[in-house]
Amino acid sequence: MQVHDLTLMLSLFFASITGAIVLSAITRMSQTIEGTRYWAIALGILSIAYLSQLSMQGMPRYVMVITFNTCLILGHAFWLIGAWHFVHKPPSKQKIFLLIVPILALSLVFTLLIPDRSLRLLGIGVWLLLVRANYAWVLWQHAKHDRNEYIAVTITVSVVLLELILSFFYTLYGAFGALPSIGERFSWVGGYTWVVALIGIVAGVPLLMLLSVGRFVRKLEYAAHHDELTDLLNRRGLSKCLDSIMPLSQRKCRSLSVIMLDVDHFKYINDEFGHKTGDQILAHVGKKLKSSVRASDLVTRWGGEEFCIVLFDTSPAHAMQLAEKVRAAFSESLEQLNPTLNNVTLSAGIANTETVSKAAFEATQLQADKALYQAKNNGRDRSEMYLIEDV
Ligand code: GH3
Ligand code: MG
Ligand code: MG
Repeated sequence: MQVHDLTLMLSLFFASITGAIVLSAITRMSQTIEGTRYWAIALGILSIAYLSQLSMQGMPRYVMVITFNTCLILGHAFWLIGAWHFVHKPPSKQKIFLLIVPILALSLVFTLLIPDRSLRLLGIGVWLLLVRANYAWVLWQHAKHDRNEYIAVTITVSVVLLELILSFFYTLYGAFGALPSIGERFSWVGGYTWVVALIGIVAGVPLLMLLSVGRFVRKLEYAAHHDELTDLLNRRGLSKCLDSIMPLSQRKCRSLSVIMLDVDHFKYINDEFGHKTGDQILAHVGKKLKSSVRASDLVTRWGGEEFCIVLFDTSPAHAMQLAEKVRAAFSESLEQLNPTLNNVTLSAGIANTETVSKAAFEATQLQADKALYQAKNNGRDRSEMYLIEDV
């Protein structure tokens, strides 16, 4: 079978344009996955590079060379910019300028002013090696948040390493040997270019998709399990956390305490100061609760202006102490933040059990809720412990 150089370019065009379309669809699904938009642009630009090889064969050679190299440079620059955004390290304008402008200038100079193919291939080849290595390095260093990302990044790094080895010999031959041009008929250069680009694009695109979709799902999961205003767990998040930690907690811990907290007269506060101030107060409660407990304790926005803390291996007396500490710290710090809010208080209900299980948590939470009701009845701005005699 005779393989045409340009057929190979056509396959690269299809591979990159498909990647660009899929990645822009993912970008449209969620504007919040950083990097995907740049990867879609990168693949779109690369598809133009391969299309130019197909469609510009009849044009003056320098026009085709400039178009191809410019697209190649911009495509790979955007690919790297996408990776920087993906790992939350967006590049400065100066960094982007240094990444793109010198190499574009070099490409134009060695095409138009001092036409020297070897120097041009060497310059662009070395630049590509550095850019691809940097891309793999950036992902390797910063994008290993879960097992999915770890696998995708490990494969990406292996693929880029293979790509680098192949590109290295290609660049060396381009600079010091007589590298034939890609043309109408099959040449080993066409085949070699195809293999290198194919590895980068055909193996790269699914990996970019895996990374983007993986992060999208992780963000959805986070949103499903957390409250947006306070960034605390919501009820579903607490239930999931309890499910995952219970097997270990059952073996290691001997007791479980629940503190239910509620902002006093919150309806009045909303009416008096506005809903926005009400929201700020709730966010402040969230911050105070989070900073007052151990990392292993679970803090949840139970709903509205009610919060729930789950503590392991804490005596009832200690849970009571903690509730008092949190209530005092909240009122004091809120007044410092906004002196007009000098009378905002919390009430708390506390209950304890020596059985560590999900069912025991549910029963204890109801008891803590009853104790909270008691605290409200006894005048608010206080903590009450659930006692069996209260039933
Ligand atoms: P009590 O001292 O008995 O707890 O009285 P309360 O006014 O705090 O309790 P009530 O249950 O009557 O009112 C709770 C209010 O919390 C009503 C609701 O509008 C408000 N609220 C619930 N969720 C939010 C929220 O996310 N933001 C704001 N600003 N208000 C909220
Ligand atoms: Mg209330
Ligand atoms: Mg309430």
